[in-house]
Amino acid sequence: MGWGSNNIDGGVVIDLGLINNIAYDAATETVDLGPGARWREVYSELQKYGRAVAGGRDGDVGVGGLLLGGGNTYFTARKGFACDNVISYEVILADGRITTADKYKHADLFRVLKGAGGEYKGD
Ligand SMILES: Cc1cc2nc3c(=O)[nH]c(=O)nc-3n(C[C@H](O)[C@H](O)[C@H](O)COP(=O)(O)OP(=O)(O)OC[C@H]3O[C@@H](n4cnc5c(N)ncnc54)[C@H](O)[C@@H]3O)c2cc1C
Repeated sequence: MGWGSNNIDGGVVIDLGLINNIAYDAATETVDLGPGARWREVYSELQKYGRAVAGGRDGDVGVGGLLLGGGNTYFTARKGFACDNVISYEVILADGRITTADKYKHADLFRVLKGAGGEYKGD
């Protein structure tokens, strides 16, 4: 991301590194990812099931930033950006409530999370 689009002057930084869960569901062929996971770890876990996912092309890139920023992947020609493959986001709202955004629930929020970056401030 370009200069000025990451973090906030005088703001706080929250380390999400420990929210790094990676849970593959064979029944739905989906994976539940914590934003603190890195793509290297995601690929290693999915390899156990003979599966891959449209994630970062460098193993050190994080799940959170790539999926919020769009995400150019090795599968982009076939599957679109990484964010195009997200089924739902679990979001902590500014007032502290935790909700889910998908194409049915909070569809407007779901849309802006797909590629808007970490700094979306609304219209
Ligand atoms: C070596 C390297 C290789 C790269 N390769 C690719 C590539 O193949 N494809 C591609 O598309 N991009 C690539 N990028 C760019 C990368 O996708 C972005 O830099 C991305 O923002 C990194 O996300 P992060 O979570 O690792 O970083 P962070 O710096 O942790 O986050 C980036 C931004 O997202 C915000 N953010 C992160 N998680 C959350 C969250 N859970 N909630 C709210 N905001 C959040 C942060 O506040 C910050 O503004 C690469 C970058 C590097 C350094």
